[in-house]
Amino acid sequence: MDYDVLVVGGGHAGCEAAHAAARSGSKTILLTQNLDTIGQMSCNPAIGGLGKGHLVREVDALGGLMGRVADAAGIQFRMLNRRKGPAVRGPRAQMDKIEYRRQMRWMLESTPNLQLRQGEVLDFIMDGDRLLGVITDWGEEIRCRSIVLTTGTFLAGLVHMGSRMFSSGRLGDAASEQLSRGLRRLNLPMGRLKTGTPPRLDGRTIDWSRLLPQYGDTPAPPFSFLTDRIDRPQMPCHVTHTNTETHRLIRENLHRAPLYSGQITGIGPRYCPSIEDKVVRFSERDSHQIFLEPEGRHTHEIYPNGISTSLPVDVQWALVRSMEGLEQVQIIRPGYAIEYDMVDPRALNQALAVKDIPGLYLAGQINGTTGYEEAAALGLVAGINASRWSRGLDAITFDRSSSYIGVMVDDLTSKGVDEPYRMFTSRAEFRLLLRADNADLRLTPIGREVGLIDDERWERFQIRKNKLDATRNKLQTSLLSQHEVLNLPSDPRGTERKSAWDWLRREEIEINLILRLVGMGIEDADLFADLEVEAKYQGYLKKQQAEINRFQTGEHILLPADIHWESVAGLTTEAREKLKRVAPNSLGQAYRIPGITPAAITAIRVFLKSSGR
Ligand code: FAD
Repeated sequence: MDYDVLVVGGGHAGCEAAHAAARSGSKTILLTQNLDTIGQMSCNPAIGGLGKGHLVREVDALGGLMGRVADAAGIQFRMLNRRKGPAVRGPRAQMDKIEYRRQMRWMLESTPNLQLRQGEVLDFIMDGDRLLGVITDWGEEIRCRSIVLTTGTFLAGLVHMGSRMFSSGRLGDAASEQLSRGLRRLNLPMGRLKTGTPPRLDGRTIDWSRLLPQYGDTPAPPFSFLTDRIDRPQMPCHVTHTNTETHRLIRENLHRAPLYSGQITGIGPRYCPSIEDKVVRFSERDSHQIFLEPEGRHTHEIYPNGISTSLPVDVQWALVRSMEGLEQVQIIRPGYAIEYDMVDPRALNQALAVKDIPGLYLAGQINGTTGYEEAAALGLVAGINASRWSRGLDAITFDRSSSYIGVMVDDLTSKGVDEPYRMFTSRAEFRLLLRADNADLRLTPIGREVGLIDDERWERFQIRKNKLDATRNKLQTSLLSQHEVLNLPSDPRGTERKSAWDWLRREEIEINLILRLVGMGIEDADLFADLEVEAKYQGYLKKQQAEINRFQTGEHILLPADIHWESVAGLTTEAREKLKRVAPNSLGQAYRIPGITPAAITAIRVFLKSSGR
């Protein structure tokens, strides 16, 4: 055996998978078509955002790479939704793309047990349904115990630019054609999805003086629990808008858009539509905001966020030049759409292993998701489990009450996808408990258990946890009067004292004030957030915890893997088909399969009881 774990692909899923497998003790190799594109951001130069920022914090809390790399390569950092509820605040940062790749590659090269190698995987070596390894374009066979496939948009990738179509994994990179055929031979249920990207602009040809700048937050909010602060100077983004002329140009050329001419058959992300899609779907609007985002510190390349398009290149020139500040702009890379093969994620279990092919794991865009953060999170789960499987250990899975990672894995494996899946805070039912600020409290102990949290991080975690407990305790035991807190000396009730914690529960009372009054000063923004939420949302948190307890009752009723659905009386044919396809591992998961009714759940309960299981 050459390796315990072999990871195919050096994108966001592949990097996390390889790192997690190697760090947790498996001899690992990462094979990718081009070592120079490890950690390449195929589309926008940003990490995080609403829901996505939660994923990055969770990956970091488990010992993954994305948060640390983003902190090292970021050029502008913000906390989105700062004024809204704590559950929906999300960190986001603009990246220097080249620096991101450099940092990611260095982190991987610094990981013990991990070998990086440039090479394209062409096919699998199988013995019946047993996976033995892969064949590469070097003409070599590499034997391994488990494989994590993270091929992104590369499987039979087909680029569209107007009526032009050509095979490509992303612009400038070859598609992975042979492996796509190899996967089909394994009889995996496969589909086609699409995504798109805007043209890139030369910043020297933009009239910045007419555009509104948008700055990052000071101090910069980091992603990683290991980053104390980020002192590098931040770069601004700028804002322009589409207008009636832009929309006229798009409408007049819709017949040349592959999306509307029937040339593209794959389904694209509804929540990240192309500009032609937006103009058609939101026809009442005559303007859309476009953010001009720098692609790095040492380049003038600009990413115009909001005009992803596959219109022909002549239309792209006209549409960008119709916008304010861009009248003289030069396009330096065209926009395009790409269609690619994906595998129906219902073929996977919650460890992200292909149910019918032991030792094969899938992660990232191949599972029907879109986005760097979604890919990284899935890569981490697959890497951990491929490593555990190859060492004969039980899988580690994440349920919906533990993390956004758990929500995503459950959604994908229970419901499948009918468009590229993207994370939103609204997908999580327990979101008050699944906040970005407490990701470490929820997940770092699991990271430690699987071998991804080293002593240094573990010690930092313990210190933070102890500080949190001590501060909470101090607030609960310190008494403050109305005079002190509200500064109302003439109020006769002003001498009445109650705990600092109880004062903090009032909406208008800020934690800074309370901490000052009890003689404490803390600088850690996560501690602030944790304590404020705990105090102010005490009632809601209790309610949510009770809901989680109810939810977990269903999760703990496990369904045997060999359950014979034909023998379960009272199920409709449709329900049987669905249960067979998904093969849920618990009653809770069965309930979340679309079309599985309470009556079907009762039938399964009765069956389990009568068969003594
Ligand atoms: P990728 O980052 O695509 O990495 C795949 C890796 O696998 C590459 O390194 C490739 O070289 C390697 N590989 C493939 N086949 C083989 C093989 N046979 N052997 C060896 N190596 C192989 N996301 C968003 O969130 N919003 C967007 O608007 C958006 N738009 C996009 C537009 C375009 C045109 C593209 C291409 C992607 C877009 N994405 C967008 C998606 C985002 O890039 C992906 O979700 C993310 O990169 C997926 O990560 P991944 O690791 O699954 O795959």
